[in-house]
Amino acid sequence: MFVSVIIDLKIKELDQKYDYIVPEELIEFIEIGKRVVVPFGNMERLGYIVDILTESKIATKPILEVVDIEPIISDEMFLIYDYLINHTTSLKSAILEAITPTEFMHDYQKKAVLLKSFDDEIIQNFNRIGEWLLSKSDYKYLSKLKRFEKSNLIKLITTIKPRVNPKVVIGYEYNHNHNYQRINNYLHIVEQFFYQNTILRSDLLEITTASVLNTLEKNEVIYRVDVTIKREVTHKFDLNDKDILLNNDQKKAYNEIVSGFNTNKEYLLYGVTGSGKTEVYLKVIEEVIKNGKTALILVPEINMIAQVAKRLKSKFQDVAILHSMLSLGVKHDEYQKIYDGEANIVLGTRSAIFAPLDNIGIIVLDEEQDESYTQTETVIYETKDLAKIRSKYHNCPLVYASATPKVETMYQAQNNQIKLLELPKRAVIDLMPEVTFVNLKNELKEGNTSILSRKLLEELTTTLNNNEQAMILINRLGYAPFVMCRVCGYVPTCPSCGVSLTYYHEDSELKCHYCGYHEPYKNECPNCLSKELAPRGIAIEQVIYELRKYFPKAKILKLDTTTTKKKGSNEEIWYQFLSKDGDILVGTQMIAKGFDFPDVTLSAVILADENLNLSYYNADEKTYILLKQLIGRSGRHKPGKAIIQGYNLSHYAINTLEKDYMYFYNKALAARKIANYPPYVKMSQVIISGLGYLKTYQEAYIIKESLEENNHKVLGPSQAFILKRGEDYRFKLTIKHEDNDVNQIIKILKEYNNDKIRIIYTPFIDLE
Ligand SMILES: [Zn+2]
Ligand SMILES: [Zn+2]
Repeated sequence: MFVSVIIDLKIKELDQKYDYIVPEELIEFIEIGKRVVVPFGNMERLGYIVDILTESKIATKPILEVVDIEPIISDEMFLIYDYLINHTTSLKSAILEAITPTEFMHDYQKKAVLLKSFDDEIIQNFNRIGEWLLSKSDYKYLSKLKRFEKSNLIKLITTIKPRVNPKVVIGYEYNHNHNYQRINNYLHIVEQFFYQNTILRSDLLEITTASVLNTLEKNEVIYRVDVTIKREVTHKFDLNDKDILLNNDQKKAYNEIVSGFNTNKEYLLYGVTGSGKTEVYLKVIEEVIKNGKTALILVPEINMIAQVAKRLKSKFQDVAILHSMLSLGVKHDEYQKIYDGEANIVLGTRSAIFAPLDNIGIIVLDEEQDESYTQTETVIYETKDLAKIRSKYHNCPLVYASATPKVETMYQAQNNQIKLLELPKRAVIDLMPEVTFVNLKNELKEGNTSILSRKLLEELTTTLNNNEQAMILINRLGYAPFVMCRVCGYVPTCPSCGVSLTYYHEDSELKCHYCGYHEPYKNECPNCLSKELAPRGIAIEQVIYELRKYFPKAKILKLDTTTTKKKGSNEEIWYQFLSKDGDILVGTQMIAKGFDFPDVTLSAVILADENLNLSYYNADEKTYILLKQLIGRSGRHKPGKAIIQGYNLSHYAINTLEKDYMYFYNKALAARKIANYPPYVKMSQVIISGLGYLKTYQEAYIIKESLEENNHKVLGPSQAFILKRGEDYRFKLTIKHEDNDVNQIIKILKEYNNDKIRIIYTPFIDLE
């Protein structure tokens, strides 16, 4: 028996299958999708079995070890693997790694073993048994160690070990054959073992002391065993939730989805903000679980997990949660629960699309319009495409929920490729917020220089007086988006990315949002040496500063990527605001998404039109969705208001905000038709990066020509938004093509992809 293996080295030249001999004693453990340790060159590496062969002309070495008890990549995940090979320029090894839960990956550890003592300062690093586990910081000694290895004084060994280990604690079992004389004094403990074989030490310590346990152990009444326990996700919320009573529209949508069980039908659950889309899919999940199947629920951002988790966990027992803010150990155990079939509902963000859930009865993508569903690093994919593969595999419905669907999605629904389910009314109070537009040009003309308009100040005062809450959106981090010299116009930029640096008032620093570069802020201009380098424009910290000035008594909370970096802090802020320990929530785009705060009666945006002029074909859609969602946070349980401030308010992405979504949809669709943009054509983007500005540009040009020879319409090359990343210059090509051209495009791109010129294909066009 032989196996084909993909080695976990992400090097283009080595990214192929290698055949190995299976030794007799390992044959029974071999399965496709398991990982093995194999000799590779002079190393030992981890590899994934992708094929089992009866014959191989190239295999010369045997595999050394089978790592997994069960396959880590299922047949279903191999379908996704095949799809990603044909739809991305990523390496096979990178794709396998993307599919494998990070917490189940293995790390390589170098160890030096002392053979003979010798005289050198490094000898003190070896422990009593003559071993030294090298940490990353010890790698500086590596060349020295290799010299000692040559002289046979030490031996260097590389071992492969799991990244995360299961949590093991002490438990006790009862020894029925003991002959301890004084057992009568301890019957209350012995009794415990009537009900369960193994009891955790920590549980026994609730009813007795450590010294009693030691006595019993010493006299062989009980003995120690290792017990693997699962680490749990902890939450900051309670588990009370109201019962679900569906209204007529919700019932209709529910019945439609249930009638689609055991088909891979796609649904667009389109309901105005506050119409109760979540209730519909919660009720559907109930039915799925009754039928003995499982449910996969995705939300776009970690911030939205808590709200849905609260509702799911109040109703269902076995919910696993997956997102990147969990600790490694907890995440490992949540995955283990899914592998072991102990979780029948999985709630997670984007990468939970790979959750090893079996027997799926429903897949939900909540807030389908959200850009976070697009993976833009390493292996690039649209979550929706992978969800379709899974829905087909399990023959289960796939539900997209949204109040503001992507134009492309609504277009498919209008053309009956997706079944449209409508919830036209708000569930609790059938009234949309009253929207007021404030032109900031007029504010300035009439003498108000504050970024808070008079109307906004007035409504904020009323809201706070009524003991209600407000949400304010400003989609820029820091205090000012950039600084500029008032004399010569100089704008400091990031030395590695080329984008302008953001000003942070509290730290008095200039920071790059893309690579983390930062430098102290000085008002002296390095260009003309004047002292006129000053912050320009507005950003979140400045808005909070202004609000504090006008409302010193109000409690203001902030939610942006700087506040959510800490584990659990997003959930904390959400819960704090929900429990009314906060009057105004100021945040970036993340506050506009999906939140349901009953006491919010005012939502406002500081600069509505700030992103309208970006060069994306869908800049209109991005603006509209963000603002429509923001408006939807207000007045969900009692009448509410919304204020839209901006300079250019006549654009259809803004002046249709008061009306139904379909007004915007029709305007946007007409604009797309004229410009020949999606959904009328498929558009994708290629980023070409490499050393040297001119050389990379030329390479991009050659790739363009090659694509054009194959009849693809290509725009560019033009500079990418982030021109430089590290040492690499970046250019982009935009391709207009048909859906089924992707395979051929990928084939062409792969010919040019090498270690010098890196090519990333994206099935959308707003990668930065
Ligand atoms: Zn200057
Ligand atoms: Zn940078």
